[in-house]
Amino acid sequence: MTEKEQKDNYATVRLPKEFVMKIDKLIGQQGFTSRAEIVKEAVRELLNKQEESHDFKMLNHDDRGVKIWDNKLGKNGASTHVQITPKGIYCTACDASKCEHVRFALRQSDIIEIVKEKLKQGWKIELSEDN
Ligand SMILES: [Zn+2]
Repeated sequence: MTEKEQKDNYATVRLPKEFVMKIDKLIGQQGFTSRAEIVKEAVRELLNKQEESHDFKMLNHDDRGVKIWDNKLGKNGASTHVQITPKGIYCTACDASKCEHVRFALRQSDIIEIVKEKLKQGWKIELSEDN
């Protein structure tokens, strides 16, 4: 970091022009008003994902659910079961259908495939990112 960057708590990053052109196209969409906003959002998302994948690990799965290890559960970490049922998806540790484990499960490509298959059968599972 340069001295100026340390002083104002910001750093300058150079991006390939190709990225910048694509970023500029997003300005005005989804509430984005500047390049910085878009880049911050993308980086924040990446960092969140990395943080989660550090804490969580998919132990095993079948078409009824996923067993996830969570380093933050209990004293030394514990596993939780995210169940995939005709009525929706459900985390046993959180007793909830919307939690970080469900979010994590729904980001695993194997699980996305299973859920897509179940959706075709009329199961009520939300695949959206915001649950
Ligand atoms: Zn949970």
